[in-house]
Amino acid sequence: MPLVSMRQLLDEAAKGGYGVGAFNVNDMEQIQAIMAAAKETNSPVIIQASRGARAFAQDRFLFHLILAASELYPEIPIAMHQDHGNSFETCKSAIELGYTSVMMDGSLKEDGKTPSSFEENVAVTKRVVDFAHDRGVTVEGEIGVLGGVEDGHGAGGSGLEHVTDPDQAVEFAELTGVDALAIAIGTSHGAYKFTKKPDGSVLKMDVLIAIHKRLPNTHLVMHGSSSVPKDLQDVVNEYGGKLKETWGVPVEEIQLGIRNGVRKINVDTDNRLAMTGAIRKVLWTQPEKFDPRDYMKPAREAMQKVVAQRMTQFGQAGHAGDYAPISIAEIAKGYADGTLATRPLVAAK
Ligand SMILES: [Zn+2]
Repeated sequence: MPLVSMRQLLDEAAKGGYGVGAFNVNDMEQIQAIMAAAKETNSPVIIQASRGARAFAQDRFLFHLILAASELYPEIPIAMHQDHGNSFETCKSAIELGYTSVMMDGSLKEDGKTPSSFEENVAVTKRVVDFAHDRGVTVEGEIGVLGGVEDGHGAGGSGLEHVTDPDQAVEFAELTGVDALAIAIGTSHGAYKFTKKPDGSVLKMDVLIAIHKRLPNTHLVMHGSSSVPKDLQDVVNEYGGKLKETWGVPVEEIQLGIRNGVRKINVDTDNRLAMTGAIRKVLWTQPEKFDPRDYMKPAREAMQKVVAQRMTQFGQAGHAGDYAPISIAEIAKGYADGTLATRPLVAAK
């Protein structure tokens, strides 16, 4: 199957009432793990690359690896997404490479660290939307600022300092016309999200629900949404790792989000933990091993297991064959003639 528009993938998810995992990749084994899980569970999927990933793997390598996935798995709809674009130029370069979706994270300035003003965020996001929609490419924006740092990107802090204001979210969606909107509800990037199992004082699901009520037609995105399960932490620590105890976003909270307009859920940390645990186990228990395949194969299998589990929990499992892909050129026409207009039908307060 050719790569599909993330907009089509999320519109279908909204119709079906499910969420779609967006899994980060840096290398071949991670892409293979995601695709094996998608095939196993018959799931549409979003494969995403951060700026750090594009630099690590080199653009052409990563692009062609994801393209290979779409050739090898013609039955699986795949959207190729730029995670956390920091500037118009970053998004433009992804679109010109062939990504079918970009995130313009204008919640931070171009340095990827300093919170920006609302006006700056609107201006840069609107510029990306105009460029992307002309070419049939989907745009995710962000309003509010997440906590933590990952891949050198992030404002740090706890995640509670810049929780999204629902009024601003509505204004932002109206002014920019984004297809999807990432919101800050107390979550953070990286492994250290919460110091205990999160409750409503630190994970603001009520804010998410309020935003969905006001923006029923905008696809909401949860970032920093790994669950960081204890069993994955334990494997790493059992074989010589030194992770501090930490809590992620419980799957039942994500499922509550999915019932309230969340269509894209970003997961990275859980996969990193699964792979690292599997590699540590081989190197710790079989120190005579030195063929990378001896530890990369179990690492790939461990990640496949986590991804397949999330696909089932998010509800995307079983939906790969629900629809035929709409060409990116057709999608561009939809934006141009207004049938895919994304400015929200704003519900009353
Ligand atoms: Zn993120």
